[in-house]
Amino acid sequence: MNKPSIPFLAAKGYVNTPDWITALQRAMPNEKIVLFDDMNAEDRATCTVAIVANPNPAELQDLPNLRWVHSVWAGVERLVAALENTNLKIVRLVDPQLAKTMAEAVIAWTLYLHRDIPTYAKQQKKQLWKAMDYIRPENKTIGLLGLGALGQAAAQRLLLSDFNVCGWSRNPAQVAGVECFSGDNGLKTMLQKTDILISLLPLTSETKGLLDARRFAYLPDGASFINFSRGAIVNDDDLRDVLNNRHIKHAVLDVFDVEPLPVSQWQWEHPNVTVLPHCSGPTDRETASAIVAGNIERYRNEGEIPRSIDISRGY
Ligand code: NAP
Repeated sequence: MNKPSIPFLAAKGYVNTPDWITALQRAMPNEKIVLFDDMNAEDRATCTVAIVANPNPAELQDLPNLRWVHSVWAGVERLVAALENTNLKIVRLVDPQLAKTMAEAVIAWTLYLHRDIPTYAKQQKKQLWKAMDYIRPENKTIGLLGLGALGQAAAQRLLLSDFNVCGWSRNPAQVAGVECFSGDNGLKTMLQKTDILISLLPLTSETKGLLDARRFAYLPDGASFINFSRGAIVNDDDLRDVLNNRHIKHAVLDVFDVEPLPVSQWQWEHPNVTVLPHCSGPTDRETASAIVAGNIERYRNEGEIPRSIDISRGY
């Protein structure tokens, strides 16, 4: 019997759909990767696995024998919300290349803040010649929210540049060279010693709105903030307040509640905000396709579905 085809489902109009199908097909020459729209009802009924990039959840219901979906993204909060009342397992992308790319963004933007580049850019506009005092990285502490695949890779990269590194996770963790915290008190203690706070947390019911006025107040005056995870982790009004009163000196924001960030939003024009277009950790189609291919091959050969999202935890 022929192996069932594997559908690829993405949001309508997603421009990279053909590129994904090509990359996935190249990584899995023994499988047939097809656009969901091109499958007939008989084909759809044979599928037990699908590959997805922000799919329309209603379309997944047209695959009656589906057991699991493999996302080509690392963050899957929308899928979790859409599929929480189904038996479908959600496997997200865990790719060492993604962790490496994100760690590169973490070091790039940490150094941007550490070496006061936003201040020098403002000074240049005023033709002001003034050098800031230099503080060695070993006298600065970076607080990482999240010590998962991305947080741990970021920590290693920061340690190589001699920063002090702290990290906060849901369960108590041990990471070489990193001072680890968990729980609400642990978060408070970490924030109180953090000079640059970096979010690499998944968006869940527990992390939504986590960074609010109370949490920001724990940071020392003049701390900075980088958000590389999800916009909704931050209470935007509270962030604007602490930027306006300079309690937070500068924020680098790569992710927003609504993306693309609407032109009317205050972050675009705020003098102490750097806006990035969700570019800190792009998925590499080639390495991601190889990982998806390996997971699907194990499933075909051994019936093993890779470690999936714990829907009740949300990540
Ligand atoms: P991960 O491996 O699942 O790690 C998540 C980390 O967050 C874990 O350390 C986890 O704690 C911690 N955590 C979760 N809920 C928590 C809570 N309520 N309190 C404290 N800690 C909590 O995820 P990842 O691969 O590192 O990715 C993290 C996120 O990055 C993704 O979910 C996605 O939103 C975002 N992302 C952004 C981009 C971008 O381009 N901006 C790209 C890729 C990913 P435990 O260790 O105790 O489980």
